Amino acid sequence: MANDSWKTGIYLTPDIIQKHPVYVERLRDEIGLDTVVIPFTGELPEDVMSLSPYGGRTPTDAELDELVLRHFDGRPVDPREYEQAKKFCGPAVTANGDDKAFRAIVEQLQNAGLKVWTYGGAWTIRRLTYCPSRPDTQRWFEAAYAHWATQYGFDALDITHTRYSMASFPLGLFGCTCSFCETAAGELGYDMKKMIADLKSAREGLHQLDGVRLGQVARLGFGFFDVVQAMGLKSGVLDWVRFRCDLLSRNLNRFRTVVHEAAPDVRFGTDTYPSSMSLTAGHDHRRWGEMADFASPLVSHISAFTCNTFIEWARFLQEEVPNLSEEDALQVVYRFTGYDGMGLPETVEAYGADEAATLAYRIPLVDLILRDLTKAKLYLPPDMPSYPIIHGEGWPRDGIDTIVSEAKNLGHNGIIWQGTDELMDYDFTA
Ligand SMILES: [Zn+2]
Repeated sequence: MANDSWKTGIYLTPDIIQKHPVYVERLRDEIGLDTVVIPFTGELPEDVMSLSPYGGRTPTDAELDELVLRHFDGRPVDPREYEQAKKFCGPAVTANGDDKAFRAIVEQLQNAGLKVWTYGGAWTIRRLTYCPSRPDTQRWFEAAYAHWATQYGFDALDITHTRYSMASFPLGLFGCTCSFCETAAGELGYDMKKMIADLKSAREGLHQLDGVRLGQVARLGFGFFDVVQAMGLKSGVLDWVRFRCDLLSRNLNRFRTVVHEAAPDVRFGTDTYPSSMSLTAGHDHRRWGEMADFASPLVSHISAFTCNTFIEWARFLQEEVPNLSEEDALQVVYRFTGYDGMGLPETVEAYGADEAATLAYRIPLVDLILRDLTKAKLYLPPDMPSYPIIHGEGWPRDGIDTIVSEAKNLGHNGIIWQGTDELMDYDFTA
């Protein structure tokens, strides 16, 4: 692959770009930066704002209860995030910024010879997910995305959080089962009541296992049919996983169509959840060509997405399966999620979860990242551009270098950086 087709992008806030124009120019000259991905910090016009499901004001808790994911036991997920949700002007969108200043930043980057992408939000914020089936929320995102695509001269929309809650938040795996989603399930060929019954039955299956024997089996090795047999797994559980992927695929396909109709030259892409666990978040890599013009495998969140999932699922298993030790629970999770055999920590304590900033030094970072980047290339359509998102700070430099060169070898098409401390010296206090 020729060097000039290798994309080098970075996430930056308008604040940094405005205060440190030299930093951006040095990144361009020293690490080959060609694309800057910025959050939208402008304003939305009245015709878009009028479509907000928030109705032009801060929603009450009861109103948010109606807009967010409904767990199969009936509760809304997750009220702990309501304070954050109330800061938006509609689901996952902020639009009370300075539009003039925002346009000036886009122009500054373009004058520096850089491509500009914007990343806007979608269904999920941390543990909270907005129901992906509500027509009002759909129309809201469509209007916001069309506005961004036509008004600022962006090269691409790089929509983020186009997923269900991260897997480290187990409650988020079991929604949405609201009436809108029940209707959507029917349209897509699924039976919501059967899926819920089969999810409950799988949980019962866990209760009937003996944890000591499960630990023995996990260390010997288990496969797909063991999972089916151990949990008494019925088809509704797989339907549940497929339904959530089908629903998000259908919605994203609509968003891309709206954006392309409004702005044919603007590319529409999104980041993808780590491949090993992406189906848990509603991301089916194999269908990415139906809904996006490029993919960005989001493998940088080793704490929130990956290691916290291991820890939370191990805890969940220990609650559900009698006599299961923490060490065995972790081994079960590693094997079940496809991260076994790389030497991940034996205990929860060894993760040092309180010190997430240095986590990269306590886990087999390179193996972990490359496993998901290898899988992403297996599943993504062969011609789909793919720009993995990795850290340029907080990770060991030699590890970063290995990941970049292997990403190239695997056929990925560039890197989108988060942070640059390890890549280039720059004094932000100067
Ligand atoms: Zn719903």
